Amino acid sequence: MLKGKVAVVTGSTSGIGLGIARALAGQGANVVLNGFGDAGEIERLRSGLEAEFGVRAAYHGADLSKAEEIEALVAHAESTLGPVDVLVNNAGIQHVASIEDFPVERWDAVIAINLTAVFHGSRLVLRGMKERGWGRIINIASAHGLVASVQKSAYVAAKHGVVGLTKVTALETAGTGVTCNAICPGWVLTPLVQKQIDALAASKGLSPDAARAELLGAKQPSGQFVTPDQLGALAVFLCSDAAAQMTGAALPMDGAWTAQ
Ligand code: NAD
Repeated sequence: MLKGKVAVVTGSTSGIGLGIARALAGQGANVVLNGFGDAGEIERLRSGLEAEFGVRAAYHGADLSKAEEIEALVAHAESTLGPVDVLVNNAGIQHVASIEDFPVERWDAVIAINLTAVFHGSRLVLRGMKERGWGRIINIASAHGLVASVQKSAYVAAKHGVVGLTKVTALETAGTGVTCNAICPGWVLTPLVQKQIDALAASKGLSPDAARAELLGAKQPSGQFVTPDQLGALAVFLCSDAAAQMTGAALPMDGAWTAQ
């Protein structure tokens, strides 16, 4: 379905981004990976995508907290694989603390990576997408783009911002062949969430299993994690012709978290 298209997935060396990159490559897209990690492991992921799916895959290590590095990421994608047809703004970080204790530097980093980077990535690819009459921007927001939790001020503010930016992007591209949607996952068992499970286990003296169950039980009525593969399948749907008129939406995949 996406044969010959070029997809950039930010924060795709791990977790949800990697699941989405794999799903898009599975549809024939040439993929640009981005994110941090061990160089050998990243090269294994990159060459593995090429071998498994018969696509081209590139990597750029841009730090998404820096505008000029996001510019370099998009330029690298264009020069190695071609114009960007699909942009998945996925990179994100979390910091957990009450507002009065929230380190200012962590606030700035969460807003920069989770929200401002979405603006930069979008502004850099939109002109070309509009000119070519086709494009897909998929913003990975969160259930926290729709509802709040204590101790996550920067993250909740950033993710609500992403949902708002998604709506503006959809309005500014309406009728051009470009769509923009936000996916709002509930809990997904990735390194980002494992850190929160470890902190819960340590603070309450729980076993890893008990901490996982408590984390899910507090928010996610299904009691089960969403998986990166399931989110990848939703991203593929958003790239399909069937989703051509789906734009400006914030789509929960959250085991009924936000139904409460
Ligand atoms: P993760 O920690 O597994 O992966 C994050 C990715 O982003 C990694 O590839 C990491 O290297 C990259 N990254 C981090 N900082 C970066 C930076 N400054 N520049 C470039 N890349 C950077 O996390 P995840 O759980 O897969 O999260 C992916 C996205 O999904 C995030 O936006 C997160 O907020 C969102 N999300 C996650 C969950 C969940 O339960 N895991 C739920 C809802 C939304």
